[in-house]
Amino acid sequence: MAGALLAVQNVEVIYDEVILVLRGLSLDVPAGEIVALLGSNGAGKSTTLKAIAGLLPTEHGAVTDGTIDFDGTDLTHAEAADRVRRGVALVMEGRRVFEHLTVNENLIAGGYTRGSRADFDRVYGFLPRLAQLRGRVAGYLSGGEQQQLAIGRALMSNPRLLMLDEPSLGLAPRLVDEVFAIVARLNTELGLTALLVEQNARRALTIAHRGYVMETGRIVLSGTATELADNPDVKEFYLGLGEAGGRRSYRDVKHYTRRKRWL
Ligand code: ATP
Repeated sequence: MAGALLAVQNVEVIYDEVILVLRGLSLDVPAGEIVALLGSNGAGKSTTLKAIAGLLPTEHGAVTDGTIDFDGTDLTHAEAADRVRRGVALVMEGRRVFEHLTVNENLIAGGYTRGSRADFDRVYGFLPRLAQLRGRVAGYLSGGEQQQLAIGRALMSNPRLLMLDEPSLGLAPRLVDEVFAIVARLNTELGLTALLVEQNARRALTIAHRGYVMETGRIVLSGTATELADNPDVKEFYLGLGEAGGRRSYRDVKHYTRRKRWL
């Protein structure tokens, strides 16, 4: 897509030199949009985000084909720190905060920034709850607060593209609402472009502009959020709205993979 901030083209990823996980994956993230990346367990969503963030080498993985272009620069094989400097940030799955450090210390630790006054002001201004908790030890925060901290830490590097890996995972419904509201505000208030991996397809498509569905290392469907939400297959397998009106769980997705409807 012309003018996309992030353009991933035909990317192949192999772990441990033999395990082929991404098989020619292509996706675009236009500047100023939220793009949802949907798909069942093991489809390769986290791997896609790690490939873009440059984190595969730490897991014995490598991009073996294709290109990752960010704002016109080829970052396919760039160092992770270089990508952060250029504005690519990732909030990893599982709210990985440093439990023994305070909120304030967490914002500095593990980041690629020493934390200027402007960085703290931006993060605490955007996430005022964190400002209230700044002296608290992170391990005692609630799940929702820890997720805010993980997002705050990513914001410290002043990114242009924020990638989030299942930010709502394991949170109570009220906190899920809170996290999605934060992601939507990142886009509307800070103008951040976002790539959002979510199992909660219904919620992801309410805040995303467009989305991709991936299966076994490939994109099998893409469109605007409305197109995807109206797609019968997406309805049936990701939104739990089968034609008969019955709800399906993710356990049924295995059945769907066997049918290979989109492949
Ligand atoms: P989930 O929602 O379960 O996290 P996902 O779509 O994010 O799924 P990935 O975590 O990217 O999928 O995993 C895709 C495939 O790659 C899986 O089959 C997984 O077992 C495999 N895989 C992931 N990480 C590694 C690794 N470090 N070494 C070897 N194989 C891996």
